[in-house]
Amino acid sequence: MANIIDGKALSKETRQHVKEEVSRLEKEHGKTPHLVVVLVGEDPASQSYVRGKERACKRAGIRSTKIEKDASISEEALLNLVNELNSDPEVHGILVQLPLPAHIDSNRVIETIAQKKDVDGFHPLNIAALQIGTKGVLPATPKGIMTMLNSIDIDLQGKKALVIGRSNIVGKPIAHLLLKNHATVTMAHSRTNDLAWEAKQADVIIAAAGKAKMVTGDMIKEGAVVIDVGVNRVDDKLIGDVDFDSAEKKASYITPVPGGVGPMTITSLLQNTVECFKHIENI
Ligand code: NDP
Repeated sequence: MANIIDGKALSKETRQHVKEEVSRLEKEHGKTPHLVVVLVGEDPASQSYVRGKERACKRAGIRSTKIEKDASISEEALLNLVNELNSDPEVHGILVQLPLPAHIDSNRVIETIAQKKDVDGFHPLNIAALQIGTKGVLPATPKGIMTMLNSIDIDLQGKKALVIGRSNIVGKPIAHLLLKNHATVTMAHSRTNDLAWEAKQADVIIAAAGKAKMVTGDMIKEGAVVIDVGVNRVDDKLIGDVDFDSAEKKASYITPVPGGVGPMTITSLLQNTVECFKHIENI
């Protein structure tokens, strides 16, 4: 039976460290990190994510401001708003909740956010920094996954890692982080010929395809570490990309859904906000 990597517990512990750091920074410098979240439209999932982020900021002592805009806002008006936030010295982090309405080019919006305030780590310069190994802001979900892997003291050097999914926000950046840690990385996607075979070779599997229970126990090598990023709503329940019941019989470590990668993503966002604050304030 696998050990569970408890994202909730690890988040609680990590957020406590963030809270202590925020309080120390306040005492020593008289300033508080400030995150601005821009929410466009009324998508219930986005509203719920934003609420979760605001709650987490509050608990960690991070100041947060939510700016809500109607779904009809023009791209130009949204870009102007981002530019205002870029030049506001009281703002240390800017997050524009995705997805945006179809008439707005998300890439243009992301590119407009100042790199040093890009707490999501989606700006092309932050992506480039990750690829060439220079300092930048790491995207929250991959950063959270690395915190989870570090928590079990796994030595990734020479390990075979399979990343299922090649999105810009999860698959590609986590593959780079695994590479940076000297794993031998394979990336699978919807055109991969034999996913079961690829999975069977892997010491570490990162499942981020958004397909409920697609990774089953028979695909997993005995003792592999399995990180389930997927969040799929099935019959009003949240289900991961991994079939937990069969996978936990083979894996050495596994993350649950919910209570795994999800809480770590928000935790990484808090860490990124503090890092951006320190960078901007030269601390
Ligand atoms: P995307 O939809 O952007 O990407 C999905 C990727 O999975 C694509 O690269 C796609 O391949 C690949 N894929 C789809 N079907 C298969 C298949 N049958 N076999 C192999 N690969 C497949 O998703 P995201 O990266 O944004 O998210 C992935 C999952 O992670 C979702 O469930 C999402 O909800 C969840 N998520 C969870 C977060 C958290 O905090 N817990 C944060 C972010 C995402 P192709 O490129 O060929 O189309």
